[in-house]
Amino acid sequence: MPELPEVETVRTGLAPAMEGQVIARATVNRPDLRWPFPDRMAERLTGARIERLRRRSKYILADLDRGESLLIHLGMSGRMTVSGDPLGQFVHEHPAAEKHDHVVFDMANGARVTFNDPRRFGAMDLLPTATAELHPLLANIGPEPLGNAFNEDYFVAAVRPRRSPIKSVLLDQKLVAGLGNIYVCEALFRAGIAPTRRADRIAPQRLAALVTIIRDVLSEAIVAGGSSLKDYRQADGELGYFQHSFDVYGREGDPCRTPGCGTAIRRVVQSGRSSFYCPQCQR
Ligand SMILES: [Zn+2]
Repeated sequence: MPELPEVETVRTGLAPAMEGQVIARATVNRPDLRWPFPDRMAERLTGARIERLRRRSKYILADLDRGESLLIHLGMSGRMTVSGDPLGQFVHEHPAAEKHDHVVFDMANGARVTFNDPRRFGAMDLLPTATAELHPLLANIGPEPLGNAFNEDYFVAAVRPRRSPIKSVLLDQKLVAGLGNIYVCEALFRAGIAPTRRADRIAPQRLAALVTIIRDVLSEAIVAGGSSLKDYRQADGELGYFQHSFDVYGREGDPCRTPGCGTAIRRVVQSGRSSFYCPQCQR
């Protein structure tokens, strides 16, 4: 499931094909994804110019010159591919349409952007740009983890009263936007905090340190994603899924990488999701 760094990588990869460009034709091949598409979506997109491509949490927003924004959510398995850009950014020919190519954008510059989603947990909607933040999917989301509003004072004050395990507190999108399972596991490992530890029993200075650690973990992944964009032109044009080495995520039973530790990484299930951690380094 794509998390914030993956979505940011998709946004960065789409920008050369879409930002400042006119959608010559939008093709919508089914009535819905997770929810029904808005009325006349293809007509409302066709001919519009994308003035800005931005990200809020795990959503991509394409601000159109018509006062509307297209909201894109990749869901669990959504993929975006770019093909056929005449400027040489992308070497791929337009591939044959695939079964799950639900929405296709043919840009006036010759690029084709395809949204493919076999499981259809993704979403697209059109909303007034001026009130985008009030959209039901965006209204209750907390500050961006890489923005100024996410700082030590805010974080400590918001987390300290909570009696839930720190893992589930960090996954609360009202506290901070876009954090998911993978990067929460990685941040807690770096902070030396066990995912099961109650938030109200963590010293304020250890909580405060998490702010910088969360920013670092996400920023490093975004940099890794950016590097992957240099390679995808030789691959299949798919954006956003990149190889990234994790310290604990997905490493159950493997030795901890902390020098001198080597303890087997453990996995516990919390609220139905796997947490990976080192029982020696994280308390
Ligand atoms: Zn360890």
